[in-house]
Amino acid sequence: MPNHLLEPDAEKVFALCDHCGGEIYDGEDYYEIDGDHIHEDCFDNFARELYSDCRKEAICHE
Ligand SMILES: [Zn+2]
Repeated sequence: MPNHLLEPDAEKVFALCDHCGGEIYDGEDYYEIDGDHIHEDCFDNFARELYSDCRKEAICHE
């Protein structure tokens, strides 16, 4: 008897994104940073948060 619970068309989950907690699917591009898995779409926000301390306001002191 075939297993009807198996869904051959369902995308395989490769890992969970460490930024948003969402699923990263098989074949999807992602970033691996220090062992974390990050969606390509999450990378921008991830990097901004990671380097938030580096963000400065440019003020001329003259
Ligand atoms: Zn994500």
